[in-house]
Amino acid sequence: MTPELVIFDCDGVLVDSEALSVAALLGMISAAGGSVSEDTAYELFLGKSMKSVREILASDFAIDITDSHLTNMRVELMRKFREELKPIPGIREILPRLGVACCVASSGTLDRIRYALDVTGLLGLLEPHLFSAAMVARGKPAPDLFLHAAAAMGAHPGNCIVVEDSPAGISAARAAGMRVFAFTGGSHAGNPALKARLASSEPDFIFADMLQLPDLIAG
Ligand SMILES: [Mg+2]
Repeated sequence: MTPELVIFDCDGVLVDSEALSVAALLGMISAAGGSVSEDTAYELFLGKSMKSVREILASDFAIDITDSHLTNMRVELMRKFREELKPIPGIREILPRLGVACCVASSGTLDRIRYALDVTGLLGLLEPHLFSAAMVARGKPAPDLFLHAAAAMGAHPGNCIVVEDSPAGISAARAAGMRVFAFTGGSHAGNPALKARLASSEPDFIFADMLQLPDLIAG
C-alpha cells in the first residue's frame, strides 16, 4: 500500500551526522569533567533531543551540563558540519522521485536541522516541511513529534512510513501507529551494540542502501 506521507528522521537518515554528533557530545561531557564510553553514548543518547540527553547525564551520571558547555558544543558541531558533513549516499537522487509527500521530523532544533540540510544540499528538496522536537511536549521515544508532523501534513498516522536509524525513533514511530523502516547505512551504524538494539526494537524492515527506498515504499 502506497503511503500518504514518508517521515524522515534527519541525523543518520538524511545526513551522515551521528559520528560527528557523538564525538562532539563526548567532547562536551569531558569538558564538564565527566566520562561516558562511545558505546554508552550510542546506547543512551542516539536520536534523543539535547534536553533529554542533559537530563539523563544529570540523573544517571551526575554530570552537570551548563548552558556554556552546550553553547560551546553547538559551535563546535556547526564547524564540523560545515567542514565534514555529507548527505547519506543516494538520498539526493531518490528524494525528487519518491512520488509521495515527504517531511523531516528530528530531535534537533529547527536551526540545526536547517543547517545540516543546507550544507548537504538537501534543504531545497524538503523545506518547508521540517518538524523539530522543540515543537512538542515530549521527544522521541514518545510519539508526539511524528503525530504532530502527520497532522500538520494532513496524513493519517496509519498511512505514514517513518525512516529512522535509532531505537528511540523506531519506538516513537511504533507508538504513533506508523510503519517504520530502520536505516543502517550511516557511517555510525556498524556499532555492534546499536545494531543489536535496532533489530530488537522490531522495525517493519531494515535496509542499508537508500537507493532501495523507492521500491520499499512502493512495495
Ligand atoms: Mg537519527
